[in-house]
Amino acid sequence: MDFSVDDAARERIEALRAFGREHVRPAGLEADREGRPIPVGHAYFDAAMQHGYGRTRWGREDADAGASNTRMALLLAEEFAYWDRGVMIANPGPSLPEQSVIGMGTDEQKERYLGPFVAPDRPRWACFAMTEPGAGSDAAAIQTRARKDGDGWILNGAKCFIGSASRSDWILVQATLDPTKGRAAQRAFFVEQGTPGLGPFKTEKKMGLKAYESASFSLTDVRVPAANLLGGEARYERKAGFKAAMQTFNAGRPVIAANAVGIGRAALDEAIRFAREHDLLGRDRVRDRIEAMARKVRMARLVCLRAGQLADLRRANIQEASMSKALAATVALESASLGLELLGAAGARGDALIEKLYRDAKAMDIVEGTGQIQRMIIARQLVGLPRN
Ligand SMILES: Cc1cc2nc3c(=O)[nH]c(=O)nc-3n(C[C@H](O)[C@H](O)[C@H](O)COP(=O)(O)OP(=O)(O)OC[C@H]3O[C@@H](n4cnc5c(N)ncnc54)[C@H](O)[C@@H]3O)c2cc1C
Repeated sequence: MDFSVDDAARERIEALRAFGREHVRPAGLEADREGRPIPVGHAYFDAAMQHGYGRTRWGREDADAGASNTRMALLLAEEFAYWDRGVMIANPGPSLPEQSVIGMGTDEQKERYLGPFVAPDRPRWACFAMTEPGAGSDAAAIQTRARKDGDGWILNGAKCFIGSASRSDWILVQATLDPTKGRAAQRAFFVEQGTPGLGPFKTEKKMGLKAYESASFSLTDVRVPAANLLGGEARYERKAGFKAAMQTFNAGRPVIAANAVGIGRAALDEAIRFAREHDLLGRDRVRDRIEAMARKVRMARLVCLRAGQLADLRRANIQEASMSKALAATVALESASLGLELLGAAGARGDALIEKLYRDAKAMDIVEGTGQIQRMIIARQLVGLPRN
């Protein structure tokens, strides 16, 4: 298994490292101390835009080439999260729904919804809303209803924990035509900000990752035109083939795993820095903790890169993707915990980086499929059962 990267890739990681040191870590610490997401007009977003964030991959040959290199994307995801994973998600851009729009959107939808992200005049956001107060892991249980009404659709329901929702130009809302029919009855709709019946938005209070907004909101008789159904009506006649294609490889969960590796590595470096400054490196028990952190972080990175390599080869990686996420999220938490132990009282203070990393790390086991769900997927695959 060759996980080496070329000089151009190394340069991109170095550039991100400098950006992370100068802009990302300070913005993340500030948001954490103030207990609120980075405000929309914050100077961080100007710096992020200058660094190239906020733009869509749609129609960009250079970006498309980069996207096919999952390993590269994973190393960048690790590096960003090393400096602050919450800030990474706060970045402007079409984020989570971008891939769905590129893969399933009609030409008009790509133009209308991704067009403004080609050369954005200001920081712009978009988001994907799946989770509901009664439907998290079990996404088939969502209750937000979509009802055909003349030439449009009426949406009613409630969503929670949706990243950057109140600042998004549009939200891709997952809804069901019939809650008794599971995933087959689900559709996604573009809901533009300001549409009557959308909101109000309430920012959730989170234990970590405070730099980005997670919001709950409701949809009350929200009317959208027929053109806002992702992919248009025609898409649903050829859905089965698409679903099969999506299930063969997965690039999303390894990104969360890479983020977790970044957090684990940050905890390791913080522990070494502290031990060096306090002349503790001569103690066996201090070195034991450092060794355990380093070993586990490296192990998690290897599993994560293997999942990425399989995605690059367009080979099935469901097991590896789930293994990478289940493992790396646990390792990040363990690494931050060992770091906290090593720093002792100094680490437990509310303004210590290590305690922030501990709070940030926990969320990596929850988002995009909890640890239990990943372990269930792995076990079902191992014994030859379908995913669910
Ligand atoms: C920081 C953060 C950001 C988020 N951002 C978004 C976002 O942008 N968009 C979005 O749509 N959602 C988002 N979410 C929601 C996230 O996807 C859900 O929290 C996640 O899917 C888990 O759902 P839940 O919280 O309802 O927990 P539940 O599904 O209720 O699970 C509770 C516990 O039960 C376990 N469990 C559930 N089912 C099973 C089972 N069958 N077998 C064994 N154990 C099980 C779970 O592992 C978990 O430990 C975010 C969440 C967080 C914390």
